[in-house]
Amino acid sequence: MTATPPNLIELGKKAAPGIVHLKPPVDPATLKHRNLLEAPDWRRIPAYADVTEEQFLDHRWQSKKTITRPDKLLETLKGLVSEEFIRDATEGFQRAPMSVRVSPYLMSLIDWNDPYHDPLRIQFIPLASRLLPDHPKLGLDSLHERADAPVPGLTHRYPDKALFLPLDTCPVYCRFCTRSYAVGIDTDEVEKTHFRVDEERWRRAFEYIAARPELEDIVVSGGDAYNLRPEQVTQILETLLKLPNIQRIRVATKGPAVMPQKILTDHEWVDAVTRGVDLGRKLHKEVVLHTHFNNPNEITGITRDAMNKLFERGVTVRNQSVLQRGVNDAPETMKLLVKRLGQVHVHPYYVYVHDLVQGVEDLRTTLETALMLEKHVRGTTAGFNTPTFVVDAPGGGGKRDAHSFEYYDRITGISVYQAPSVKPGQRYIYFDPITLLPPEGQARWADPQEHQRMLDEALSHVSDPSRGRA
Ligand SMILES: *Cc1c(COP(=O)(O)O)cnc(C)c1O
Ligand code: SF4
Repeated sequence: MTATPPNLIELGKKAAPGIVHLKPPVDPATLKHRNLLEAPDWRRIPAYADVTEEQFLDHRWQSKKTITRPDKLLETLKGLVSEEFIRDATEGFQRAPMSVRVSPYLMSLIDWNDPYHDPLRIQFIPLASRLLPDHPKLGLDSLHERADAPVPGLTHRYPDKALFLPLDTCPVYCRFCTRSYAVGIDTDEVEKTHFRVDEERWRRAFEYIAARPELEDIVVSGGDAYNLRPEQVTQILETLLKLPNIQRIRVATKGPAVMPQKILTDHEWVDAVTRGVDLGRKLHKEVVLHTHFNNPNEITGITRDAMNKLFERGVTVRNQSVLQRGVNDAPETMKLLVKRLGQVHVHPYYVYVHDLVQGVEDLRTTLETALMLEKHVRGTTAGFNTPTFVVDAPGGGGKRDAHSFEYYDRITGISVYQAPSVKPGQRYIYFDPITLLPPEGQARWADPQEHQRMLDEALSHVSDPSRGRA
């Protein structure tokens, strides 16, 4: 073994003799994914002007000060934003089907000088002026999670994996949430099916999982595992790991994106996760975290420290993003997100084309946008850090590679998918948002009599597998 010359880094800065650069070295200042904002400037917000760094980095302070009422949120913004914005958001909240929950950390990350365009504001604070009518083909629980649920809060759709929803609260409430049928407290707009922490319901879910030899992989989602107490995390992981059929467990939490402080200061919770990962490793089973960053601004120096702590403990973290208009639908933004996730040891796993969810038509983009983004992202970094772009087609077909459509009409915005290993013989349809279609497509959707015709046209291009035709 040859010793590394101690001055290699210094040498690298000079034009080392004998090295021929086929391409000029990149100016480090352009490597934006490495230039993290160390911490947001929370003192800009009058309500947090006197908050110390120690408080701001403490998850208990973040939880205690998390805003759960629209009027409180808007009060915090007085003087920071225009009266017009306050009015717009007040009306937005009245019309939104989601509950509100925003941490001081998130509040501090939003650029209040330009709240209309800020990618975090867009995800968590609805504005009446931006709302668009829902797509006519939209239904609540568009993924049919309840139809595939043998036990309340346990969805068994795919052959070898199931989705367990142990609770229905999150550390943040996202406007775009697919599970807005279940997550959060009731709002004026939506009456929800609740999945409270309920030992009896959990027991039934575990019994079902134990009784299905084909199940190997459990997604513990929600709600959000951040809101489970450490002993609940332990109970779930130990119970599942003891089942001989279970090989893989993923614990889903948006927490790292909205309150990375918890990873750094809630030692009991992080220890409970780590113990689960370690126990899994001993039993030759995989336990990993799945998280949910959508925009590069959500990754700060605090996030890096939190992810490094998990990395040191051998906890694998993967990321699932939701593609949203104005949040991550530009190639430069998506590329930066993917590179930045890699930089903090989070593996980009999926980018979801936005589900058909009530009240957030302004957030959806077209399938065409997803295909374009994927083309730009692939090739920028390691293949294992390159996300797959997926469509979770309404009706319960599950996630499909966005590129695998059987048919896609860019004028009507209708795409058709099949899922032979999930629900053979069925066709699944996704609809682009109408406002992003060419005028011809918009005109057809404006006429209700055209709706069925457009669907029939699209389906006529895809043979019905149940009829046995090729
Ligand atoms: C997403 C999902 C899973 C996990 O699917 P992967 O493609 O393996 O990530 C499992 N069950 C349901 C119902 C899901 O929606
Ligand atoms: S954290 Fe996840 S489950 Fe909770 S509201 Fe957001 S998207 Fe929905």
